[in-house]
Amino acid sequence: MTEKSKEILDKLADVIIENKKHLTKLDSAIGDGDHGINMARGFKEVKEKINGNNYETNQELLKSVAMTLISTVGGASGPLYGTAFLYISKVIPDADFTIDSLIEIGQSAVDGIQKRGKAEQGEKTMLDAIIPAVDALKESKENGDDLEEALQKCKVKAEEGMKATIPMQATKGRASYLGERSIGHQDPGATSSYLMIKTIVDELYK
Ligand code: ADP
Ligand code: MG
Ligand code: MG
Repeated sequence: MTEKSKEILDKLADVIIENKKHLTKLDSAIGDGDHGINMARGFKEVKEKINGNNYETNQELLKSVAMTLISTVGGASGPLYGTAFLYISKVIPDADFTIDSLIEIGQSAVDGIQKRGKAEQGEKTMLDAIIPAVDALKESKENGDDLEEALQKCKVKAEEGMKATIPMQATKGRASYLGERSIGHQDPGATSSYLMIKTIVDELYK
């Protein structure tokens, strides 16, 4: 069962590495221009780590990813994504995903990021892509959507959330130093989060 998860994580790493320039460019506008560099460095290590090891469970696999991210990404995003994956590692099942397990996984990521970074939705951070995606899953559960429909909606909401960071003023992280000048730019962390959510959904339904 860890094989499928490894495949998804490997693809996720490829997408982040492919988007290194894009993420760095976004971070140059409202930060210090290293988000793509930070993330690509970390996910290159993740690829090596997971492909060079055997894991008995998804929990072990995700914990290994979390530790690698915490020790290699750096910046604000390293500990935040690291904690998200660490929290996910505590709840991820080995069985096929269900709407309930996906909600639990998404909510754990949000909890981990908020525990570390103390940000709320609307502060122009990675949470602005992730929270709407998790909310979409919760809504799909209530509506009784099937898993594929739920995941497609989740992806759309993550993208809308990412784009919604453009008119926001940053009140957390480095971009907050710019005050009103942070308005008009898409948040780099919300962009990397969207890319990860998109990749997971696409890999589950390819
Ligand atoms: P740094 O700002 O230290 O250079 P990165 O460039 O790698 O780190 O990451 C910047 C991203 O981190 C931002 O675009 C934002 O999405 C995210 N971020 C910063 N602070 C927080 C926070 N407190 N909570 C959630 N996300 C945050
Ligand atoms: Mg930066
Ligand atoms: Mg930095």
